[in-house]
Amino acid sequence: MVDLLAIAAHPDDVEQTCGGALLRMAEAGYRTGIIDLTAGDMGTRGTPEIRVAESEDAALILRVSHRENLHFPDARLENTLAGRITLAQRIRELRPHTVILPYWEGRHPDHYRTSEIGYEACFLAGLRKIDQYRPYKIVYSSIYANVTPTFVVDITQFFDRRMQSLLAYKSQYGSLDEGATLFPDEAEIRDRLAAIARFYGNLIGVKYGEPYVVKETMRVDDLVALPVRSI
Ligand SMILES: [Zn+2]
Repeated sequence: MVDLLAIAAHPDDVEQTCGGALLRMAEAGYRTGIIDLTAGDMGTRGTPEIRVAESEDAALILRVSHRENLHFPDARLENTLAGRITLAQRIRELRPHTVILPYWEGRHPDHYRTSEIGYEACFLAGLRKIDQYRPYKIVYSSIYANVTPTFVVDITQFFDRRMQSLLAYKSQYGSLDEGATLFPDEAEIRDRLAAIARFYGNLIGVKYGEPYVVKETMRVDDLVALPVRSI
């Protein structure tokens, strides 16, 4: 059972997109979890076994109480009925109140397909009469989509730890020779992620932020308590 569940295409996706929010929610006392759909077996560096082991190290750093890998085929991820049913079953068992999915458009097909599979699995999880469960809320991590976020989570206190969780993928971000020209080094990765987090943090008047989009309108109950300065 988790309160907040992030569903991602590849090990090391949540560490770049929504790891700060996962850390912040864990710090607030919520149970958090991650389901990675693929083990990254089409990646240039490392093996699926190594990446899954590294994702377990990263899970400890992110303080999630649950992480699993469904081992769907990577880079040719398809939205199949079998895949949706498998994921729906996991959602029923974990019973997340809120689910984080990748934004529904993007450069990498695995990412937008994960968004679609995740949404449909959440729907499917609530269909059957026995053991049905449907998450209450779906939010979309929009860090790699050039869209205005519905809201930004202040992750200033958690940025460094999120960065550490990404560096747990030593096969991907270590300075190995294999694929060295394809992969940026650690300093470059840190600069890039800091610049992105700084950009979104700036939108809400904090140092580092993570952007999210929701499809429903956000409700406001107290106009006097609205954060983020206008002038
Ligand atoms: Zn990815």
